[in-house]
Amino acid sequence: MADGYSNFVNNGFGKKLAKQIGLPQPPVLRRYEVGQDLLDGPAAVGTVGSGVVGSTAAAILRGSGADVVDATAEATYSDKLGAFVIDVTAATKLSDLETFREIAIPAVKALGRSARVIVMATTPSALDDVEAAATAQAFEGITRSIGKELRAGGSANLFWIDPDAQGDAAVLEAPLRFFGSSRSAYVSGQPIRIRKHAVTEVADWHQPFAGQVAVITGAARGIGAQIARVFARAGAHVIAVDIPAAGDALSKVANEIGGTSLGLDITSPDAGAKIAEAVARHADKLDVIVHNAGITRDKLFVNTDEARWNSVVDVNLGAQFRINEVLLDPATKGGLKDGGRIVSVASTSGIGGNRGQANYAASKAGVIGMVRELSEKLADRDITVNAVAPGFIETDMTSKIPMATREVVRRLNSMMQGGNPIDVGEAIAFFAEPGSAGVTGQVLRVCGQSQIGA
Ligand code: NAD
Repeated sequence: MADGYSNFVNNGFGKKLAKQIGLPQPPVLRRYEVGQDLLDGPAAVGTVGSGVVGSTAAAILRGSGADVVDATAEATYSDKLGAFVIDVTAATKLSDLETFREIAIPAVKALGRSARVIVMATTPSALDDVEAAATAQAFEGITRSIGKELRAGGSANLFWIDPDAQGDAAVLEAPLRFFGSSRSAYVSGQPIRIRKHAVTEVADWHQPFAGQVAVITGAARGIGAQIARVFARAGAHVIAVDIPAAGDALSKVANEIGGTSLGLDITSPDAGAKIAEAVARHADKLDVIVHNAGITRDKLFVNTDEARWNSVVDVNLGAQFRINEVLLDPATKGGLKDGGRIVSVASTSGIGGNRGQANYAASKAGVIGMVRELSEKLADRDITVNAVAPGFIETDMTSKIPMATREVVRRLNSMMQGGNPIDVGEAIAFFAEPGSAGVTGQVLRVCGQSQIGA
């Protein structure tokens, strides 16, 4: 699963050779370590017009220990910036795009390695005026383009903030801390909507799940094992679920993180009840369910038989429905609490489709449909429902892809490399955090801004 090319061109002789003959050098991404500073350098924070979100963001960043400098069109930066954050929520005229350009260019030029650009705009669908909606939407094109131009592991992401959420610091903090930090190493070019919602105060941002119970399916290996590690690191008691045949690997993960293992085929009719029973041994109610278990049975659509079709749809989608139904029943002991979190793993194949994966893409697009609809239905119980859509992640699943195809897919993204399972784990943890109460019905691609599956 190692990316041999990346290792070669980032070390010793390979590094020199790559520089001399102009080979692409995938940057080494800054990734989260416990206790790490949020930013690797000061943040420049700017505002176009009369937006109020910029000063809120500056206060949050200062509160996290970061140095904050004012970003203006005339600004000169003596240090390499760790982040550039700009409030464009008040941009309603096309001429505001020019003001953005003037402020942003000096800041983007001053960005250091693995720096973050965060553009905070008003949700376009919340705007009545046509020019205002067009201006707000323009920032999606700008942000995605900057993401594609950044090198050295930088990322650019966009917040769509609802007008009634713009005065609310609490709802902004978790998104800012995720997209501003190294936890979002492999997320770029992505918009995410932030709504108004009451948020409970987070005592320790390194341990947001302290005292919580989280169930992670497919946790014996790959992405699921890393999700389990991220949740345990952040304070959760993890109930790690995987098929009985993966029992040894599952126990190993559970023991390593002080969690509980539960050998269970998620497609079995009593899977929801078994999960609830396991939860009830630790707590009355469950805080987080992460639907990660998934399979592929690739074939061209015209050659896909009933077994390949049904097994993929059932593991990747049907099982989630049945388990949710049990966990969401208020009468279920060990069911999901009001204010709880559901996070599903989709795929960029479910967004863009993929040759040989009609069954898989159906299941993953279905996950996206489920998440969007369920989030509306569960809003009055304060349960958020979101999905991550990984692109190419280095796991056993992707190691089966033929070498030539694998090498192409690895490079065709803004980071010029595959993601690590931990990158998906960090994004899922962001959705599940108590501070992310204002983020629901969202699908976040963790794909290094891949051009595949677009
Ligand atoms: P993986 O094959 O390495 O791990 C999947 C785990 O799910 C395995 O441990 C497996 O035993 C378990 N599982 C499968 N069927 C199960 C069942 N019926 N009951 C319980 N457990 C079951 O895969 P991965 O790469 O870690 O993928 C994890 C998730 O991420 C999947 O949903 C996958 O579709 C998705 N995904 C992966 C990638 C990637 O690049 N690896 C990209 C997009 C999406």
